[in-house]
Amino acid sequence: MSSNKNNLTKILKISGLRNTPQRQAILDELNRTRDHRDVEEIYFSLKKKGIKVSRATVYRTLELFVNHYLIRRLDLGEGKYRYESRESDHHDHIVCLDCNKITEFMNNRIEELQEEVAQENGFFLKRHVHQLFGHCLNETCPNK
Ligand SMILES: [Zn+2]
Ligand SMILES: [Zn+2]
Repeated sequence: MSSNKNNLTKILKISGLRNTPQRQAILDELNRTRDHRDVEEIYFSLKKKGIKVSRATVYRTLELFVNHYLIRRLDLGEGKYRYESRESDHHDHIVCLDCNKITEFMNNRIEELQEEVAQENGFFLKRHVHQLFGHCLNETCPNK
């Protein structure tokens, strides 16, 4: 994790910001799992580990990291954001409308098609948000 630490220090320095133990802990917390969590979940997980940080600081730090491309922010139409690590490879999401289960997928045909669509419309694609919503087939899903 030391390369991660140096990386964060470097990235923050460019913006004139210091790396602090809290900032490092929040980034490590995000990179620890592949979960898609909201501020509350991240805050409570840090709290459980004995890391002293306020909700507001967690929120501000997450937004700072989003702006510096250290983590990804997802808007799944829930009226709140979810955050995930950027350490995993690029992927898109399918969300269950009943149990909020989030499944990650990566489809080369979709990726290529998006490039084609951008080109055809006179754009050079920088990023995209591709989200699918539906009813999952899990036995445990409340809508079964
Ligand atoms: Zn479901
Ligand atoms: Zn994801």
